Amino acid sequence: MENLVSPSIQALRPYQAGKAIEELARERGISDIVKLASNESPQGPSPKALQAAQRALSEVHRYPDGAGFRLRDAIAKFLNIGVDEVVHGNGSNEIIELIIRTFCTPEHHVVFGRPSFSMYPVVVAAHNCPGTAVPTNGDLVHDLDAMVAAVQPNTRVLLLDNPNNPTGSYVPRPALEKFLREVPPWVIVVLDEAYFEYAENDDYPNGLELRHLRERLIILRTFSKAYGMAALRVGFGVGPAELINYIHRLRAPFNVGGPSQEAAIAALEDQEHLRGAVAQNQQERARLFQALLPLARRVYPSQTNFVLADMGRDAEALYDALLDEGVIVRPLPGLPTFLRISVGTSQETTRAIEALQKVLA
Ligand SMILES: *Cc1c(COP(=O)(O)O)cnc(C)c1O
Repeated sequence: MENLVSPSIQALRPYQAGKAIEELARERGISDIVKLASNESPQGPSPKALQAAQRALSEVHRYPDGAGFRLRDAIAKFLNIGVDEVVHGNGSNEIIELIIRTFCTPEHHVVFGRPSFSMYPVVVAAHNCPGTAVPTNGDLVHDLDAMVAAVQPNTRVLLLDNPNNPTGSYVPRPALEKFLREVPPWVIVVLDEAYFEYAENDDYPNGLELRHLRERLIILRTFSKAYGMAALRVGFGVGPAELINYIHRLRAPFNVGGPSQEAAIAALEDQEHLRGAVAQNQQERARLFQALLPLARRVYPSQTNFVLADMGRDAEALYDALLDEGVIVRPLPGLPTFLRISVGTSQETTRAIEALQKVLA
């Protein structure tokens, strides 16, 4: 019988999201569960964003603004760019998909890092597009020279998350500048800055300041992480109007709901809330990092809201033992001794540290 789907789709497995709190409660009869598996903000969104979403609920019998004009306009004004340089997405994940769908055919080729955002290989395979996963260096930092070397004449898109999920590492500004100049001009470089707001090191590069270095550059940001609105599904891409216009042609007309659009507009206006969330993350991340040092083989410096640790033993078993303690963290495919732990509230961080100490004892 003829295969119903292509071999590349046949080989895929459904995305393994971080285990949900209710799921663990149901499976093991545990209450008081701490979830540190999906890099969600423990602070949540600005109260002003929630109020805006609530107000918009009275209009849900109407379709939202299909062009997302007010949302894109708010983003454009906030970033000091043109509204025709912005495309909004159902999370930045949708923009990644739209980019591959818009620009790639099975004759093209895509380059990305390994490990990096787990959806990259999925999206590329789903579109039947050959891809090259370029291993990170010994410090789990993207190997930019190797990524440039992986570019072929038919390479259409290069996906680079900076900071990188799941490592928490980043490529510093001088290296990224050199890279953006070196990648051949026919390649669309996608700079995925999902954790941009959390990165505080002086040499962490803001992709928006590097747009002059190459024509084909798209920068992705999201409201899911530091803005604390993961369930509302709002992300966006910034690039040259010509590329953005092509992406809009494939975008579903009502891809971001009305309450979500309103919440994002209000969230942008409350930078004080964002700064508070980022400051708290910084403090708790440092505490988590320090606590992991004596427990792990290696802990990786992070510019995000999670910390990656090589536990030096079977991570699946550790993950399972932590579930019994009511703490959900993230084991990682391809990294059998590693755990990724999201930064939570002070109490959540303490719970995670104490649970780890207990199961390792
Ligand atoms: C979380 C994440 C995204 C996508 O998040 P959305 O909720 O779809 O905006 C994209 N890239 C990286 C690296 C991420 O970690």
